[in-house]
Amino acid sequence: HAEHLTQMGTTPYVVSAIIFVLVIGARMLRDQLIDTARVQTERAEHLSRYDALTGLPLRQVAHERIADAIRDGAARGTRLAVVMVDIDRFNEVNDALGHLGGDALLTEVARRLRAAVRPSDLVARFGGDEFTIVIADTVDRSVIDSVTEAVRASMSTPFVFREERVSVTLSLGIALYPEDGANPDELLHEADQALYASKAAGRDRATYFSSALREAAEVRHRLVADLREALPAGQLEVYYQPILALDTGTVHHAEALVRWHHPTRGAVSPAEFIPLAESTGLIHTIGAWVFSEAVGNADRWTQAQGTPFRVGVNYSPVQFRRQPGYGPTWKSALDHLRDSGFPANLVSLEITEGLLLDDSDDVRAQLDALRTAGVSIALDDFGTGYSALAYLRKYDFDFLKIDRAFVGDLEHTAHNVPLCRAMIVMAHALGMKVIAEGVETETQRALLADMGCDYAQGYLFARPMPAAAFDAFLTTRRNAPEPTAA
Ligand code: C2E
Ligand code: MG
Ligand code: MG
Repeated sequence: HAEHLTQMGTTPYVVSAIIFVLVIGARMLRDQLIDTARVQTERAEHLSRYDALTGLPLRQVAHERIADAIRDGAARGTRLAVVMVDIDRFNEVNDALGHLGGDALLTEVARRLRAAVRPSDLVARFGGDEFTIVIADTVDRSVIDSVTEAVRASMSTPFVFREERVSVTLSLGIALYPEDGANPDELLHEADQALYASKAAGRDRATYFSSALREAAEVRHRLVADLREALPAGQLEVYYQPILALDTGTVHHAEALVRWHHPTRGAVSPAEFIPLAESTGLIHTIGAWVFSEAVGNADRWTQAQGTPFRVGVNYSPVQFRRQPGYGPTWKSALDHLRDSGFPANLVSLEITEGLLLDDSDDVRAQLDALRTAGVSIALDDFGTGYSALAYLRKYDFDFLKIDRAFVGDLEHTAHNVPLCRAMIVMAHALGMKVIAEGVETETQRALLADMGCDYAQGYLFARPMPAAAFDAFLTTRRNAPEPTAA
């Protein structure tokens, strides 16, 4: 009985003890869960604010820092510089080194930027190969100059990646508070415009934003608006320039070159408006129109002469990218050829290295489909890019067009003769025919013919001309090409 009593008396204590342990345990568990959750959110937050590759803060952090610096600057009368930094030709370096090499390069550039600026300056990764530097709390423009100079100088030692040495340069664009803009978005946008100006002026330089740049940007905007109307308004026209066989002097084919007759500005060069068409996607409609014009005229010349007439059409890298509402380039080009009945083997597409930078299977598949259907591919502006030789190893081309930078100075620049000769020998060994661009003098023609160059194009023979003028040109020459395979 006594035992029973004792048991009765202790039960509440045992129960309380159990409840106590359970409550404590639950609390600990809850705390631990909260802790884990907090660590996870912190980690997620860190990931969204800091770049995993370089460890640098990301865009959002730069934005906040600029906003803070503007507040401080307004209160204390100090200046602020927002600097956009872009690695020149990063895509080409990335292509040459591979993605691991590209990552290593970005990490090293980030490290050098960080080391070049003052501890109080912010270096952020803005995305891709773009960085932003925020130089706050300065009064003197020379401080900004010395920081940007140090940044550019920090690239002077080549990068080494798996035995490969690569030199890179940077383009910079600088916008200042308070003179250029009053908020982070404005300053970032203006620094970006200044960066664009650095690129356009030939890269490897720093440019301060200015009202002239603002005006240039406005002109660009207006030009884009006008370009949207150009095709429907009938302001575009395709010109044709003959390409001649150097041994016989006969016309081998014509290159189609688009022209814009702007209602108030007069002739606008394709070098100026094609990039705008590319950045706005207008190149898809313009390119398809140029293609159909070129094929239509080549068809007419074929009929008129009774012999097949070839045509070359420039194709922008953007036209090979898939866009909603547009079929793939090769399909729409081939569809057009099928519908028109014009033989595919009389058409060559001129592409530039820019297309091959992505080195994607998609681009390769498109080029293969075109070649399988009989379309020739010409590599345009050869010799001006960064890793031209690598592309010859990876892709098959029918024509190599030596850029006019090598041809134009053939008789005056000692190195150009051996370079042209080497390009011709190499192209022939790889089964390609060679076209020299920009032949302007008889000496150049003779030198190229002597080197075994197959074809030439240039003002010496004829300038690009409207289709009607080309009719007349062909009639007077009356020397149609033989219908042989290219
Ligand atoms: P490209 O394809 O390399 O075309 C050759 C350029 O060299 C043409 O400039 C032509 O007029 C010029 N040229 C020809 N012979 C000579 C010469 O003897 N001396 C000199 N100094 N220049 C010569 P254009 O017509 O101003 O075209 C510039 C570039 O615009 C073209 O370079 C091409 O990349 C692009 N382009 C032109 N039409 C189109 C097009 O329909 N679509 C695309 N995507 N790009 C085009
Ligand atoms: Mg071309
Ligand atoms: Mg060219």
